[in-house]
Amino acid sequence: MADLSSSVAELSKSFSGRLLLPKDSDWDTARRVHNGLVDKRPALIAQCLGAADITAAVRLAREHSLEIAVRGGGHNVSGRATVDGGLMIDLSALKYVHADPKARTARAGGGTLWGHFNRETQAHGLATTGGVVSTTGVAGLTLGGGIGWLMPKFGMALDNLLGVEIVLADGHIVRADDDENPDLFWAVRGGGGNFGVVSSLEFRLHEVGPLVTGGIVAWPAKRARETLRLFRDFAERATDEVMLVAALMTAPDGATKVSAIAAGYFGPSAIAERVVKPIKVFDQPVVDTLGPIPYEQLNASLDASFPRGARNYWKSHFCEQLTDEAIETIIDCHRKCPSPMAMVSIEHFHGAATRVKTAKTAFALRGRGFNVLALSQWSSPAGDAAGLGWARETDAALKPSAGRVNTSTTSTRTTPALPPSPRRMDRMSSGYSRSRPGTTRTTYSTAT
Ligand SMILES: Cc1cc2nc3c(=O)[nH]c(=O)nc-3n(C[C@H](O)[C@H](O)[C@H](O)COP(=O)(O)OP(=O)(O)OC[C@H]3O[C@@H](n4cnc5c(N)ncnc54)[C@H](O)[C@@H]3O)c2cc1C
Repeated sequence: MADLSSSVAELSKSFSGRLLLPKDSDWDTARRVHNGLVDKRPALIAQCLGAADITAAVRLAREHSLEIAVRGGGHNVSGRATVDGGLMIDLSALKYVHADPKARTARAGGGTLWGHFNRETQAHGLATTGGVVSTTGVAGLTLGGGIGWLMPKFGMALDNLLGVEIVLADGHIVRADDDENPDLFWAVRGGGGNFGVVSSLEFRLHEVGPLVTGGIVAWPAKRARETLRLFRDFAERATDEVMLVAALMTAPDGATKVSAIAAGYFGPSAIAERVVKPIKVFDQPVVDTLGPIPYEQLNASLDASFPRGARNYWKSHFCEQLTDEAIETIIDCHRKCPSPMAMVSIEHFHGAATRVKTAKTAFALRGRGFNVLALSQWSSPAGDAAGLGWARETDAALKPSAGRVNTSTTSTRTTPALPPSPRRMDRMSSGYSRSRPGTTRTTYSTAT
């Protein structure tokens, strides 16, 4: 067998994108992902421009028994987008969005980011559920679930997926949707990137905005108990038009600890002010941005809080109830938080996302409740021990309040603790992911 460098030289004659070896000057930049704590060194990075490039890269990996990692937006906190000594299939150049306003659908390339997707679909007053940070990848977020502002009204991102084009482990390019390869379509919706490399995704769109009501209201941290109780009570009465997230965090001055509620309202504008009034009038705020805002802007408003290259270590628990005891634990954990960049955030799950039958997709987390995340984030290696320690301590403290573990690794995607149909998932794993060169891992075996 030819050595890797010779195979790369041969392939580069027909490859549309770029092939980067460690000796190439761009390799060091290309191997980095969002989380600065991730420092893996792939043997080869294949920056693919389309499905044919992906096929060629997958076949080369088979030939050289290289483990494959797929990079969409590179936001996965546990660093699944890259791999030591293997092949990183980097889709960051495979970015495009074609919106069809008549059919109310949009097709996006496997490396597209949500900011780009929202911009193209909002040009027609349309949108689908996507991430709340505009630099997150469409593919990774959707294949793992997809929590966003529109989740209570239209379901998770994966509930709006109509089909994918996917390159399988043997290099074949197939379509998966409700009619073609329906088992594979079931598995990719929640099973992440374990079944192949998704070169494009097609979504259902809905009328949204462009002007909606959203933003954040923050009060001094001494009001945290009352803030979280207000959040819980408001959440219990919330209609499908309302999405709520609470956070105990530090204000942009880097010193003032605050308790905050971020809200989005996606119903008739005539009653928007009345709907969000309980949050607006609760107490004298230190920050209040809650009001009319373009949907696209709402989805970029948190970007600055998550800078690329910061060091991240995240944990989460799903609590069916936000009890008074859980609230006290969360407040206590936040008091001990070592970095102004870190926060505890609580996402409320209700509405359309919770009405989808669990067996319909490979994503199991369909109950109403509260996803409590310890988002440990800091800027320099000197903060590693404190940053890791705080996330682990918060995780342990929250365990008694949690019904079941949502994300048991540093991963941020909402991988369910148990697949909804383990036998079906096993069948799919042996048919697809187990044949991936050099790897037998599945989402489930790494996350539980
Ligand atoms: C700042 C920040 C904000 C976030 N906000 C949200 C949020 O609002 N809602 C939410 O649900 N999650 C959110 N997440 C979590 C995020 O959805 C997951 O980390 C997701 O995996 C990121 O997708 P990506 O394409 O950017 O990731 P990557 O790291 O590129 O990929 C993650 C995994 O997905 C798979 N993958 C990616 N692209 C493809 C592809 N084209 N084909 C096959 N497999 C692929 C790969 O297996 C890869 O290992 C956030 C994460 C961060 C860091």
